[in-house]
Amino acid sequence: MRLARFYADGRARSGVIEDGSIIELTGGDLLGCASVRDSLDIEAIETGDPRRPLEEVRLLAPVVPSKIVAVGLNYRAHAAEFSKEIPAEPMLFLKPSTSVVGPGDEIVYPSHMSRRVDFEGELAVVIGRVARDVSVRDAPGFILGYTCFNDVTARDLQGRDVQYTRAKGFDTFAPVGPWIETALDPLDLRIESYLNGERRQDASTRDMIFNVYELLSFVSRVMTLLPGDIIATGTPSGVGKMKPGDEVEVRIEGIGSLVNTVVQRRTCT
Ligand code: MG
Repeated sequence: MRLARFYADGRARSGVIEDGSIIELTGGDLLGCASVRDSLDIEAIETGDPRRPLEEVRLLAPVVPSKIVAVGLNYRAHAAEFSKEIPAEPMLFLKPSTSVVGPGDEIVYPSHMSRRVDFEGELAVVIGRVARDVSVRDAPGFILGYTCFNDVTARDLQGRDVQYTRAKGFDTFAPVGPWIETALDPLDLRIESYLNGERRQDASTRDMIFNVYELLSFVSRVMTLLPGDIIATGTPSGVGKMKPGDEVEVRIEGIGSLVNTVVQRRTCT
């Protein structure tokens, strides 16, 4: 099942994508306020009317997470390209919910502070049930599905600051989408990134140092994960810088493509 959020008739809505159409869920924008629930039960999801052609709606970020827990250095080849040691435990950091944008949205280049902004294509895990102290074995039951993620990073600030809050936290630095695929084995998926149509990252999720289930279990022993929360599972090698005017695409097998453009910051302060 493919779950998405979209904008129509003045408000955000949640829906299911089927045969090129999107069918609205009954019960309102469930994916937009998932964190207030105990679970998002796919079996209980009901659709109503109308059925709209997918190309006629504007898709939004498929969830509004209460937090994004991101993982650094989770692919060996990416650790090597930055001459970093392979971590013994997952290296976690947070991205704020305010950094989220959806498919087709603009990534705003923070030129008032940074001269080096990179794309990082990643598989995003979307949480489906409140998760606390979850074992690796039980982890699959806490996942709603998977989507594409771009962990946009101000690389120069990441090097300069002691921690990642500023480098990873600017508005628009967390493109998510285009939809959540609920029926997917996450352990061996091809993941690619393209900059202006040129392939720059090409790897498999089997190359992760800590797989999706190990990450969920580890994070849930640190903090409670709420429905709609995102775990960004780390990027493969091949990250690179972007500039205003660029188009960046994260493509994951079995999900689809997340495409965003980079724009100049318009405010002058
Ligand atoms: Mg990353």
